[in-house]
Amino acid sequence: MSEATWVNCPTCSKKVLWSEASPYRPFCSKRCQLIDLGEWAAEEKRIPSAGDMSDSDDWSEEQK
Ligand SMILES: [Zn+2]
Repeated sequence: MSEATWVNCPTCSKKVLWSEASPYRPFCSKRCQLIDLGEWAAEEKRIPSAGDMSDSDDWSEEQK
């Protein structure tokens, strides 16, 4: 019986073997690891612009 452990890459959901053969686990690759870190940083910057969607509300009110 094999004791191999498989995890899903948080970025692309690809199966990653949890072993020394996968240095970027739980990510499948360095690229996915960087993407995940990048999204984390981008979300922090994105919060102040959350109110931009209110423009469409003003537009629909003028239509009445
Ligand atoms: Zn991946």
